[in-house]
Amino acid sequence: DEATERAAVLDAIERIATRIERERSALTELDSAIGDADHGGNMARGWRAAADAVADLDDPDPATMVKTAGKTLLSEVGGASGPLYGGSLVFASTALDDGITAETAVAFAETYLEKVQDRGDASVGDKTMVDALVPAVHTFKKSIEVDDLPPAEALAKAVDAAERGVEFTVPIRAAKGRASYLGWRSVGHQDPGATSTLFIMEELLAAAQA
Ligand code: ADP
Ligand code: MG
Ligand code: MG
Repeated sequence: DEATERAAVLDAIERIATRIERERSALTELDSAIGDADHGGNMARGWRAAADAVADLDDPDPATMVKTAGKTLLSEVGGASGPLYGGSLVFASTALDDGITAETAVAFAETYLEKVQDRGDASVGDKTMVDALVPAVHTFKKSIEVDDLPPAEALAKAVDAAERGVEFTVPIRAAKGRASYLGWRSVGHQDPGATSTLFIMEELLAAAQA
């Protein structure tokens, strides 16, 4: 029922905020190698504010909770990642208007990815969060629609795919975002946004398994 869904979404967002706060210096370290060393601070500040804003809502539905998290990220986080994370969450939240099912979760994931690519114009191989997201979303969709796995198992497969996507960002040259200013010097470094995307997905999985 709706109260159970509400508690599950709140738990997921709180887990994400806690994890990102814990990874703050790791994300900053990645961004200092190929960016401007603010990804940890950006994400920690944004997700903490998002979790607090969602906790303050009065009897919200899941779509409103996700939309509120996205709006908070948009207003708290600048740079590339604020609009990419926040704007895409706001846009994709409407896929959850009828609650959370395997079907709406796939629609949410696909819509989120579509918005990230619309906004950022990055493809796989550009060394961005898209390198984690594309394999994750495709794996999630296939696991549900073709392999008929339960959502939590499909999410576990998607996390594995995202992890390989993050590893794939290390040896490639950045073609989008600040890291692209470095050209070939970006080779050998792991992308911060792909890494934070993986951390978020790991927490979604932990919440789904709780
Ligand atoms: P900024 O680069 O503005 O300081 P952040 O450091 O918070 O913003 O976020 C950097 C991350 O944003 C990168 O590691 C990358 O994953 C992601 N990113 C940057 N530009 C794009 C883009 N055009 N499309 C997708 N993701 C992008
Ligand atoms: Mg940065
Ligand atoms: Mg910045």
